Amino acid sequence: MSDKKFLSKEWYNIMADLPEPPAPALHPLNHTPLTPNDLAALFPMACIEQEVSTERYIPIPEEVQEIYALWRPTPLRRARRLEKALDTPAHIYYKYEGASPVGSHKPNTAVPQAYYNKIEGINRLTTETGAGQWGSALAMAGAFLDIDVQVYMVKASYDLKPGRRLVMQSFGARCTPSPSNETASGRAILAQDPDSPGSLGIAISEAVELAMQDPETKYSLGSVLNHVLIHQSVIGEEALQQMEEHGAYPDVVIGCVGGGSNFGGIAFPFLGERLRENKQTRFVAVEPAACPKITKGAYTYDYGDTAKLTPMMKMHTLGHSFVPPAIHAGGLRYHGMAPLVSLATELGLVEARAYPQLSCFDAALQFTRTEGIIPAPETSHAIRAAIDEALDAKEKGEERVILFNFSGHGFLDLTSYQAYLGGELQNYDYPESKVAEALRDLPFLDKAAIPVG
Ligand SMILES: *Cc1c(COP(=O)(O)O)cnc(C)c1O
Repeated sequence: MSDKKFLSKEWYNIMADLPEPPAPALHPLNHTPLTPNDLAALFPMACIEQEVSTERYIPIPEEVQEIYALWRPTPLRRARRLEKALDTPAHIYYKYEGASPVGSHKPNTAVPQAYYNKIEGINRLTTETGAGQWGSALAMAGAFLDIDVQVYMVKASYDLKPGRRLVMQSFGARCTPSPSNETASGRAILAQDPDSPGSLGIAISEAVELAMQDPETKYSLGSVLNHVLIHQSVIGEEALQQMEEHGAYPDVVIGCVGGGSNFGGIAFPFLGERLRENKQTRFVAVEPAACPKITKGAYTYDYGDTAKLTPMMKMHTLGHSFVPPAIHAGGLRYHGMAPLVSLATELGLVEARAYPQLSCFDAALQFTRTEGIIPAPETSHAIRAAIDEALDAKEKGEERVILFNFSGHGFLDLTSYQAYLGGELQNYDYPESKVAEALRDLPFLDKAAIPVG
């Protein structure tokens, strides 16, 4: 395979090139800066070191490279048929992360996380999953690296979306609907409400609790953290080489944002070049209008979970108690944004945009009917922005080069398309009063900044 030459042997770390360092993470109880020891119960040392590393390039361990080679490099394609349908002078390129065995970018970090745990003697990983994309990726990594994987899956999705649960079980992972009676946090919720549908916040609490109790068990997170964004940089590192092969360089790089990992993955290697070489590339992070953390949230310290067990991070947030409406892009329903993406946005290096779900499904089907792939509902947000950029270029008569990350395919999300095609989907308004309510809980927020709701 000729494009094996694009396989990257190093990850890129934006912390080496940002004009200022990210604010330190804080201990959830005493609000002082975290020490590596505080994190050692949850994460392997290698990941903790990457979390604060300022090395520009970090070598990808050979065993991880070998596993990556099962699906990497992923294709970088030009969407010529879509360009033609839009009658635009713009060139649209996309990086197809749907090519991974589980259909999304998430194994790019699941594999190295499982690897680092394995070499540090850990034999069990716990995690949470909403729609199941992250759980599937970690289940696969566990099967490859011989680590038991315990996934707490939000009960509402467990019942409604058996597809990804079966993927996890096929890889040999244990998948439990959350809240469960296996943990104190789960039992406390069930005592109050035996029929609780669960939430990501509750599932995180269950997974973290197990990891804290057992020295041979650690916890794994699929987005948000600096080490996760480092692992995902393999997307952008390949894309740099592949764009060069096409004889092109992007004017704008686009990704959808849930916790920010696939966006950071494709954007940061290009952002590093902009910072080092004074390029003019623009970067667009696309979020759902129903969960608009960057465009409508506060930039302040918040917890990663509802139960306030995780460290506090300075990020764009809608408040850890905010429960977003049940949009179909389940992977974008997180209340916070990766601290590194938040900082880059505050520094004016990244633009954020929010779209309602109907216009995203519309863009997704335009892509399907020209390029042939059915995108995940999350990915449809990036496609909407790419199409809007192409239409804007057409209006201005510009030959703009657009690159977006195709974070995953939608073959296990067809019921969302059923709802869309059946006319059952609706847009949700920005839940302003609920956001205001959730923001009131935050310890360091200037309360005058809260919208009146
Ligand atoms: C999880 C997921 C996302 C959102 O997560 P990020 O960390 O923001 O990348 C986007 N697309 C797909 C297909 C996903 O599975």
